[in-house]
Amino acid sequence: MTFKRVDAGETMETRRFTVRNESFRCRVCGAWVEPLGVGCRNHCPRCLHSVHLDKLPGDRAAACGGLMEPVAVRSHSKKGYMVVHRCQACGAEAVNRLALDDSRQPDDFSTVLRLMGSSAGY
Ligand SMILES: [Zn+2]
Ligand SMILES: [Zn+2]
Repeated sequence: MTFKRVDAGETMETRRFTVRNESFRCRVCGAWVEPLGVGCRNHCPRCLHSVHLDKLPGDRAAACGGLMEPVAVRSHSKKGYMVVHRCQACGAEAVNRLALDDSRQPDDFSTVLRLMGSSAGY
């Protein structure tokens, strides 16, 4: 007699990869970054820097490990504000959704505004 146990989280395994949404310490400003409740944040909420670890957000498939500098902010009609990162080591660009409305650790709006101002015309 075997029971087939069905976990509530089982549907998550249909994803192509395991998203790692863990806390990390920012290499640039030293802020401790908590994982998002919803979605996947790969950047520091304080200075918006990231590290080149992902090919797709959360997959940790890029072996580069270079520092991803925020170079622009774009607004997306469906996804809201997105930050554009460029890797200082290999030049790859990546886009990540900003988490301005996160309840625990929202992205710093003044940093976002500064970036929007400096990247006008990007
Ligand atoms: Zn930082
Ligand atoms: Zn890179």
